[in-house]
Amino acid sequence: MVPLCLAPETFILIAWQVLWKYALSKVTTMNVRGDAVRKIGFRDIIDMHSPFEPSTGFNKMQYTVDSTGRRHSAFRAYLPAEVVRGRPNLHVCINVVATKVEFSEGSDGTISAEGVELESLDRSLKRIITARREIVLSCGALRTPQLLLLSGIGPISHLREKGIRVVRDTPGVGQHLQDHVIIQTTYNCPLSDSLYAMVKQPTTFLRETYNYLRHGAGWFLCTLAEVEIFGLSSVINSDGNPAMLSEEQRNPYNPANLPDFCVLVAPIGDPSIPGVDTTKGVLSINAGLMLSKSFGNVRLRSTDPRVEPLCDMQYLTAPEDRAALRAALRVTNAIARQLREEGYEIDPVRVPDVSSDAAIDEYIDKYIDTMYHYTSTCRMAPEDDVRPGVVDDELRVHGIRKLRVADGSVIPNVPAAHPQALVYALAEKCADMMRMSAEPTGWTCDGDAQSRFYAMINASLSRFNLLRWTNERARYVTQHAVVSSGAMQTTQLRVMSEQQNKQYSSVRSKPVGQRTLGESWVALPARTRIQISLAVTGIALAGIYLSDQLERVLPPPADKKPLSEGAAKDVPPP
Ligand SMILES: Cc1cc2nc3c(=O)[nH]c(=O)nc-3n(C[C@H](O)[C@H](O)[C@H](O)COP(=O)(O)OP(=O)(O)OC[C@H]3O[C@@H](n4cnc5c(N)ncnc54)[C@H](O)[C@@H]3O)c2cc1C
Repeated sequence: MVPLCLAPETFILIAWQVLWKYALSKVTTMNVRGDAVRKIGFRDIIDMHSPFEPSTGFNKMQYTVDSTGRRHSAFRAYLPAEVVRGRPNLHVCINVVATKVEFSEGSDGTISAEGVELESLDRSLKRIITARREIVLSCGALRTPQLLLLSGIGPISHLREKGIRVVRDTPGVGQHLQDHVIIQTTYNCPLSDSLYAMVKQPTTFLRETYNYLRHGAGWFLCTLAEVEIFGLSSVINSDGNPAMLSEEQRNPYNPANLPDFCVLVAPIGDPSIPGVDTTKGVLSINAGLMLSKSFGNVRLRSTDPRVEPLCDMQYLTAPEDRAALRAALRVTNAIARQLREEGYEIDPVRVPDVSSDAAIDEYIDKYIDTMYHYTSTCRMAPEDDVRPGVVDDELRVHGIRKLRVADGSVIPNVPAAHPQALVYALAEKCADMMRMSAEPTGWTCDGDAQSRFYAMINASLSRFNLLRWTNERARYVTQHAVVSSGAMQTTQLRVMSEQQNKQYSSVRSKPVGQRTLGESWVALPARTRIQISLAVTGIALAGIYLSDQLERVLPPPADKKPLSEGAAKDVPPP
């Protein structure tokens, strides 16, 4: 009875697996575009964060997921309810603005940060929170300098101009503002290859909603860019193809090899752009500037902390930046050309004329946009640097006691990578350093890793160096770690054991279409596996129960007698 009952369910499960894999293989367009990128001359980087791979090449875009593969955020990773509940000394104040840092001056002239003035958004409440040990500012690269300026720390001329009492003349505050800029090129493509299908086709939306909710997979995990190229503009020819890299150019330890541009191929573009055929899909191939050499600044527009500061971006004032973007736009054109040559249906909607630098520049000036990767306005550097620093190598504000900064503003130069992971690492490093200075004897740390970190962060903040440091650090961090099993994409509350990590990543890293049924099963989140197992067991038990009931209620078939009668007949008389 049990096998009979299980058989249809097992069949349905297998059929569903096959259909699901088929559906996924139909909608995964990453391979098509990845192939085009490879064919124009870029090499695969197997692990973008590996210190052993060249700094340039292309890879599938990585994103922050938890140990079950679901999208994750800093909020969920670092402030889960159990952490908040378990720490009576942790208070999270929402709907308030930090308006000013309060200082005291010692008899020897030392200035110390003592507290932060907070105000509710509706201005009904004002409060000063004092700190026994330290204050850490983390308002981001645009707002941290604003708060310092409002508190009287910054270039003396600007403070005087705004009528703010000068606490300390710190020329670097708000200077050296950097960003990654992006220029979009737009194409029409088959609807089934574009995220736009989720808007146009309710069935696609439902399918992907199901995929996400049930399997933690599918289009909702899309980072908007499927493939990202990191490139060196100096090796791109006028057709947008890269030259073969020499052994030296492949050396990831040489800062000269850091990529100065990126190209992001995204299965979505702006459908409202004039000329887009909205019956088809929309695809964008975006050129981004990585190592900007231009510097803007942040200044106060008003002494009201709610008023946005004045951000003078000074984009592309350095000629190198334009050169890098021109190369990147030529690469976007080469990718589209390659796709077209292979018979892929791709129609240009808004693209630059790449035949001359002047024409490309015109396009750049018209469509330049930000990636929102602002950094370096309170940079970690000596105060007497050509571009004066604001914090030292322990993130302490120069000349002020008990005040640190831990956010994108301290990054010395805009990194040749997306900054989010770097900001997490900086925050963790800051926490370690605070803990070390608070408990000088009770906290041990890998001294080598520590000193290497300073050297690395000051020399060049490449993502590869960052990973190396993070891997080393994972040995002694037991909580709230950003760890890596070859790729720093998994934010976890606990460090996973190496074994777990290996098993998980080897199966997950296989393309869905190439997994065996067993591997697909292993790759499912543990909770889903338990749910499926329980469901199958439940169906089996229900089947047994139902068949027993039916046997009791229904009359036996005409050609069969009840067992009791037969047994009575067959038993020989005593
Ligand atoms: C739309 C968008 C997309 C992005 N995509 C990516 C990406 O794909 N990959 C990537 O690596 N990076 C991405 N970034 C960049 C990344 O989010 C930032 O680099 C990173 O969040 C910077 O962290 P931070 O701590 O420096 O600042 P933030 O994350 O900006 O944190 C600052 C916090 O301080 C609060 N704050 C500011 N002023 C005050 C005040 N006076 N009082 C109280 N609170 C205050 C702000 O509300 C904010 O919550 C993206 C950014 C944006 C905006």
